[in-house]
Order: sequence, then C-alpha cells, then structure tokens
Amino acid sequence: MNVETLNHCQTMAASSSHTLAATLQRAGAKQCLTAPGGFLDIDGSRGEGGGQILRSSVALAAIFQQPIRIHSIRAGRSNPGLQRQHCVSVQACADICGANVSGLSMGSAELFFAPSRAAQSGSYRWAIDGAGSASLVLQTVLPALLSCSSPSTVEIHGGTHTDMAPSWPFLSEVFFPQLRAMGIGVDSTLLKPGFYPVGGGALRVVITPRSPSHASSVAAPPLALGVPTSPSARPYLLAARPSQYTDVVMTVETTEKTHHATAPEVDAARVAMQAVPAATVVPKVAYGARGAGMAVYLRADFHDASETDPPQRRVFFCGKPPSGAEHKTRASCCWEEFSVFLASGAAADEYLADQLMLPLLLTGEGGRYTAPSPVSLHSSTNIGTIDLFAKREDGSSLVTVVDSGATSTVTVTGLGLLAAL
Ligand code: ATP
Repeated sequence: MNVETLNHCQTMAASSSHTLAATLQRAGAKQCLTAPGGFLDIDGSRGEGGGQILRSSVALAAIFQQPIRIHSIRAGRSNPGLQRQHCVSVQACADICGANVSGLSMGSAELFFAPSRAAQSGSYRWAIDGAGSASLVLQTVLPALLSCSSPSTVEIHGGTHTDMAPSWPFLSEVFFPQLRAMGIGVDSTLLKPGFYPVGGGALRVVITPRSPSHASSVAAPPLALGVPTSPSARPYLLAARPSQYTDVVMTVETTEKTHHATAPEVDAARVAMQAVPAATVVPKVAYGARGAGMAVYLRADFHDASETDPPQRRVFFCGKPPSGAEHKTRASCCWEEFSVFLASGAAADEYLADQLMLPLLLTGEGGRYTAPSPVSLHSSTNIGTIDLFAKREDGSSLVTVVDSGATSTVTVTGLGLLAAL
C-alpha cells in the first residue's frame, strides 16, 4: 500500500471515529491507542497462533475502522501463512468496509488491512476453491454486518461439513439460535452441502442486525453491563443448562458417491450409542454434494424441567477422527466430545464459547455464559485480540473469565455497536 492510500484510509477512519468514540464512552469503554503510524500491530503467532486471531482481528478492524498490520500469520501451524479460507475471509471483510489491503496472497505471513469506511450492508457472494470452511468466512464478516443499519444477504461457497470449523448442523441448530436469543435476525439456507475434501457446498444467510420483533433476549435478571438498547432488552444469559438430555440423535451423512460405505459407520454409531436409552441413529444422503465425503454428528436436546423454554441443543461433529486418533470411529469421537461437555456442566460447548464473544460484544446489553474450564485457546485468543482494540475505561478487559472448577463463567460487556433497525 502506498503512503497516499494509507493517509487517505487513516483520514477516512478518523472522520468516523468520533461517533464510535462517543458510543464507547457511553459503554464505559475506550478504544486502545494505535501504534505509531496509525496501524495497530498484531502478532499473529499469539495465543492459538492460527486462523482465529486473523479472523477476529480483521473483524474488529472493520468494526472499529482501525487500520491493522498482522505479522507472523498462523506461525503456529504446519502450513503457516494465509490459506484459501483465510484469503477469502479477509477479502470478504475488505469488501464490506472498503478496506485497502496488501499482503493478501496464499502463504503470506504479513497483512495490512485499512478500512476506508464504516461497514456497508448489501448482497454479497464469496467463494473458496475447495473445502475451506464457508462458515469461517461467515464468522469473519458477521460482526461487521451486525453493525450495519440494514439487513445483508451473504452467499458463501466452500466446505459446509468440514472438520475444525463450525459445520452446517452446528451453525443452523446451535449458533444461529443463540444469535436469535441476542435479538439478531438470522434466516439461513444450505444451498448445497460441501464435504471434505472436495467442498463445493454453499450456504446463504440473511442477517438482520436487530430483528424488529425482538423484545428481549433469553429470560434473565438484568446484569449491570453495557448500554441496554431498549428498556425491555435483557443481557444474553446462557449460564445453566439442564443436566439431563432428552433426545439424542446420531446422524451418519454421506455424499451419494460414498453411500455404499455407510453401513460400517452406522454400525459404529450403534455401538457408540448402545448404552444410551432412546438414542437414534439416522443414515442420511447429502444429495447434490460433490465427490466422496462422510460426516457423523451427534445432536442432543436439553429440556428445562418446566419445559417452557425452547430446548437447548448441542451438536458435535466429526468428518474424520483427529490426527493421532485415526483408530477411532467418527461416532466414538462425537460421543467422547459430548461426554466431556456433559461432564463439565457448562451451558456452552468449547466451540460455541469462542464464537459467542464477538457478537455479544456488539450488543448493547452484553451477556454471560458458562463454558468448560479452562476456556479454550481460541477463546483466550479472542479475549486477547479484543483487548488490543478496546478496553474498559479503567483499563480492564471487556471480557472476563472466572474459573470455578469444571466451568468458567465468561462475561462480555456490550458496547452497543449492534445497529437497531
Ligand atoms: P488454522 O488452520 O490456523 O487452525 P482455521 O482458520 O482453520 O485455522 P481455527 O483458528 O482453528 O481455524 O478456528 C476454528 C473455529 O472453528 C473456531 O471458532 C472453533 O470454535 C470452530 N470449530 C472448530 N471445531 C468445531 C466444531 N467441531 N464445531 C463447531 N465449531 C468448531
């Protein structure tokens, strides 16, 4: 990026920072000082040293209209630097806030990202070649689109049923319902499933920053956090979950090409679930998916004793057993993850825990949830990244974690940056 472009970006960013500063002040927060030259310098090898710090950094840069430089990108990974999913995630965020970007190429370890304006809602389409996760692109653009004052439609092509990322069943059945509980409108469609290794799937999501019908989020006593956007609005609360699950369903999903290989996986799923009363195993064909691919996921519903609230649902997904555990079946991997979550007593699983943080930070009310203890490296990386951009006026973190044995309570201060329609 040349000096003139850089100066232009900084002037543009400065002109819109007054409104942001006023909003932050009302929330009792302040934006952190930027590095000399106006760039916030971020070490991409910090924390989990992978894609999370990159995605959260560009998301926050777009929200705060803060130019950033990230170096040592994904230094902690065996294939360091930007990979396809990361390149598309950065480009997508740049499209939304008109960012000038340099260093955006495969394998790049350093990136400059300078928003030129506030995020703009619209109809967007992005595509990753191969099975890179479409949901991680969504994770990157979601915060910026939530700060817009009108709805957006995003269509993202890539992997939708892939490991180490939110799968479509997780997004649609766990994550989106939690966004709705924050008053965010989410209307989602799986256009085509995309399995590892070929990908070729697509999802469409209509995001309405504050759904007009939103009266209050999950029933909870008011917490002294952030700036309530309306007197009836409540902080998001997912602090407890019923200890017993009701329905448990394990789905063995294959592309048409791999359909012949379903039977042994279904048998493995039945073995994994044999001690669970009323558990169901469902084989499913992912029609329209390209190539060979298979995934197993376990869904569990938790009902409140009163059964007045909608059930809380958790989904554990396995496309292939993790490295070092190749001898295990997909079904046993799902069951183990579920058992660990159950034993923790936490309301949010470790994945939901890191994904709730940024959307909650934008709400006026903030919120609180419990996660398995200690919180994951992805969660602590997100907290460290948020700290780089904004803090409370007294210098403390906007996200706090209190460990109490098997669970940690995560409290997020809302900054009131979520647009109300
Ligand atoms: P890298 O290749 O550097 O590891 P990445 O960009 O592929 O990076 P991560 O940085 O590891 O991805 O971030 C993964 C994200 O996907 C996190 O938000 C995590 O919560 C989420 N995630 C991982 N596995 C699951 C899962 N089984 N269910 C739901 N979400 C998941």
